[in-house]
Amino acid sequence: MSDRLKGKVAIVTGSTSGIGQAIAIRFGQEGASVVVDYREHMEGANDTKAAIEAAGSKCILVKSDVSKQPDTQNLVDQAWSQLGACDILVNNAGIEKNAPFVDITEADYDAVMDVNLKGAFFITQFFVRRLKEAKKPGRVINISSVHEDMVFPNFTTYCCSKGGMRMMMRNLAVELGPLGITVNNIAPGAINTPINASLLQDKPKLNALLANIPLGRLGNPDEVAGLAVLLAGEEGGYTTGSTFVVDGGLMRNYHEQ
Ligand code: NAP
Repeated sequence: MSDRLKGKVAIVTGSTSGIGQAIAIRFGQEGASVVVDYREHMEGANDTKAAIEAAGSKCILVKSDVSKQPDTQNLVDQAWSQLGACDILVNNAGIEKNAPFVDITEADYDAVMDVNLKGAFFITQFFVRRLKEAKKPGRVINISSVHEDMVFPNFTTYCCSKGGMRMMMRNLAVELGPLGITVNNIAPGAINTPINASLLQDKPKLNALLANIPLGRLGNPDEVAGLAVLLAGEEGGYTTGSTFVVDGGLMRNYHEQ
């Protein structure tokens, strides 16, 4: 690894496992100080912290449920008070609920939208307010999904949240560009993380999915993290308002019989 994020401070929401953990560790390996956010799984947060510190970077743990505004305000405040700044925000925390449209409950709708969209929305607002006061540039990277664009029957709440994240990113790229703040989405396809635990156990379903992926395998969290480093570092300075798909070719797959 190199020092592509040396001197930067980053918040990664939901960095106890999967993609968020890989991004937080990779950022630490690139020299960033990292705020690791966890909601429940402190042991996962501790693993992330240990890996970041082993790479020689600073790390603090902050317990924050991103669906609660006082928690996310605190996440941003802790970055500034303990690490002196906050240059990069990765909106990664996310959940999904599987239900046919006719059976979706209000509670499940609220849970998915509150974490995936409202959570990202308001933490970004707190992050930007502090940057604006300090007259500093910044980077926002949202981990959306191929389902910001692609249908996913029985996961309509998830698709609504990620589709909303796509338009949030496009709007903010325009509105925050004059402040020197870039905003982009990374849209993963099927990545090998705990969110896919039940799919990974279901061989017929898994094989059907793999048949749709030109590269013939699931992605690894590190393959998402590498792109996040690029967008967060100097080389990403002129990139804003775009979604970058990491899906092994899934979205482009089409076959004539
Ligand atoms: P994961 O391993 O289940 O990780 C989800 C993370 O989100 C965990 O760290 C969890 O923290 C955190 N989280 C959940 N609710 C939270 C809340 N209210 N407040 C704070 N943190 C919360 O899943 P993943 O696959 O890495 O997913 C990460 C992101 O990638 C999600 O936004 C997901 O939609 C997106 N994505 C994943 C895939 C995929 O195939 N894996 C594909 C496309 C998009 P705790 O452990 O503390 O609960």
